[in-house]
This record gives sequence, C-alpha cells and structure tokens, in this order.
Amino acid sequence: MERKYAVIADIHANLEALNAVLDHARSQSVTDFICAGDIVGYNASPAECLRLIRQLSCPVVCGNHDYYCSHDEVSLDDFQPAAAIVIDWTRRQLSLDDKAWLKQLPLSKVFTGITLVHATLDMPERWGYVFDAYMADAHFNYQNTPVCFHGHTHVPVIFEKKREVLRIPPGDLELALGTKYFINAGSVGQPRDGDPRASYLTYEPKTRTIRHHRVDYDIETAMEKIQSAGLPDRLALRLGVGQ
Ligand code: ZN
Repeated sequence: MERKYAVIADIHANLEALNAVLDHARSQSVTDFICAGDIVGYNASPAECLRLIRQLSCPVVCGNHDYYCSHDEVSLDDFQPAAAIVIDWTRRQLSLDDKAWLKQLPLSKVFTGITLVHATLDMPERWGYVFDAYMADAHFNYQNTPVCFHGHTHVPVIFEKKREVLRIPPGDLELALGTKYFINAGSVGQPRDGDPRASYLTYEPKTRTIRHHRVDYDIETAMEKIQSAGLPDRLALRLGVGQ
C-alpha cells in the first residue's frame, strides 16, 4: 500500500481536537502519523493527549511546551503569564513516566526522506518563529531532504525554496521535483490564523501531494475543561476565535 502521512502539530492538550483530527485522518486512509511537537501546554487534557500520541508509535519531535512541561526545574520567566500558569499546572498533571518520555524526544528527526522539527532547523533549541520567507531562508540552509514539516507558529503555510523563498498559502499543492519545501501543518489544538477549526495536513510521497485540512470539533467541551481546571479564561476564549 502506498504511504499517506498525516502531519499533526501543536496539539496542546486539546483532546477534543486531537480525537477529531485522528478520526478525520483515518477517514482519509492515512497509513502513518507524524507529530511535529507541542503535545501538551495551553489546554486541559495533557495526560490524555500524551497517551494517544504515544499509542501511535510514530515519529515525534520535541516542542518548546513539551520541553518546559517535562523539566520542572527550568524557569518560566520568558513565558507570557497565561502560558506560564498552564505549564506549571501541566507539570503537576504529568506522571514521571510521561515526563521521561517527553525528555527523550529529539529536537529534529530525519526518516524516509522527510525532516521533522518543531520550530526551525536554524538553532532548533532557540525555538525561533518562522512566519516569513526571510526566516524560512535561514532554515533552508540546514534542510537536506526535499520536505521538512514543522509547527510552532500555529499558522499553516508552505515555504518553497527556489532562487528566492516563496510563501504559499495552505491548501492543495503538488510538490515540484528538485525543490525544497518547509511546510507548517498548522495547529490541532490552538489554531491562530483566525479559523478555530483544528488544522493538520496529509502528504502522499508517491504523487508528491500536500493537502491542508480543517476539522470541526467540540470546542465547547474543550473550553469547559479549561474553565473547570481553573486555567486562565483567555485560553478558553481564544479557542473560539482561532487566535
Ligand atoms: Zn505550540
């Protein structure tokens, strides 16, 4: 059977969104999953999401929230107050085994002609945000496969490296041969492009096709869980507007 990958990123402990995306991907006859990191943080179901991702036994790289939620001793001074509150809360929800698993995740990974990184290959441990062609250009210096998938900005987009770097809106694309692509799957659990639906993409290497998908999920329940966990209201409200 030909491979069809589902690339998921920035799940951020949103169980309702993750389940909806996994169901949708299976309805698209996906054969393999890939996770570009940030399984936990922001929303209220970190342990449940971690369990589902671990069950997939798929390639996973470490996101900044995965790192901070599993290293209790590391200061959260650089985070926005709401993010710091929820990382501190998440540290208390995860078992030692969950944290040990998060701690062993690599910052980047190469497999079957695909590279995977959470933020950018240009100093991945600095978690730089690639929003524009200029930032993507720095990344491409380190990309040695035709395709690299990432997340981190929570905004789905495709960067194409020709003589210049082009920024292409998300959607359906047939990848050109001999060209490199750096592709953001968007966020499953906290989209920030104004569309509150969960985002992910599928990739078929045989036909070199990328397709971004948006999936409706039970946002109300995800919001209620944030509120009943006592986490900042702002984190619930932003789910409703996709910001
Ligand atoms: Zn994230």
